[in-house]
Amino acid sequence: MAMTSGSILMVVAPSGAGKSSLVNGLLERDPSIVLSISCTTREPRPGEVDAEHYRFVSKEAFKAMRDNNELLEWAEVHGNFYGTPRDRIEQATQNGHDVLLEIDWQGARQIKKHYPDAIGIFILPPSIEALETRLKKRGQDAPQVITKRLLAAGGEMSHASECQYVIINQEFSTALNQLSHIVESARLRYPAQATRHAELFSQLGISPTKS
Ligand code: 5GP
Repeated sequence: MAMTSGSILMVVAPSGAGKSSLVNGLLERDPSIVLSISCTTREPRPGEVDAEHYRFVSKEAFKAMRDNNELLEWAEVHGNFYGTPRDRIEQATQNGHDVLLEIDWQGARQIKKHYPDAIGIFILPPSIEALETRLKKRGQDAPQVITKRLLAAGGEMSHASECQYVIINQEFSTALNQLSHIVESARLRYPAQATRHAELFSQLGISPTKS
């Protein structure tokens, strides 16, 4: 079981819930948060940049990383493989940085096993119609891909209860504020504060570990 002073924040949502915009908004507000860059075997969408949005890899390369234990978690989503490279997360959390992962429920479950203090935040759309509209408006996926993702959305959302927090993304700025508040409260948790302010805790004679 891994101990960290930085928080691990997992943002989970069905495609079209507005997760990436919220994550980008959060990172703009707080550039100290380290974003995990996943590996995927899916084709890049127009405008997606390798090593920025994802590391786009072949199936063979993905399997080699998985078999070499280079991935902290991995899952098959919509027929493609996705995984979180271990090195970036371990390095960042050891250095006290907060790390944000955009992953699906299967990945969130695996991370939680490894890091029980990891925080799950589920982003819900305000309605099923809004989800469909957003997926179509994005215009980046073929119609059959959109249908597949809409069908999968129900399955993904049925795992919302595995997350500690739920944000309903009706109004972007409200949802972004809510996400920022969650990050802030994660930073104020006892173990994180005790590690960050070890000297003060010791001066004040307060235990660094939670009773
Ligand atoms: P998209 O293809 O739309 O970028 O992502 C499809 C799904 O894969 C989303 O639910 C996204 O959160 C998930 N995903 C992205 N990266 C990872 C990862 O590293 N691990 C897991 N388990 N899921 C991921």
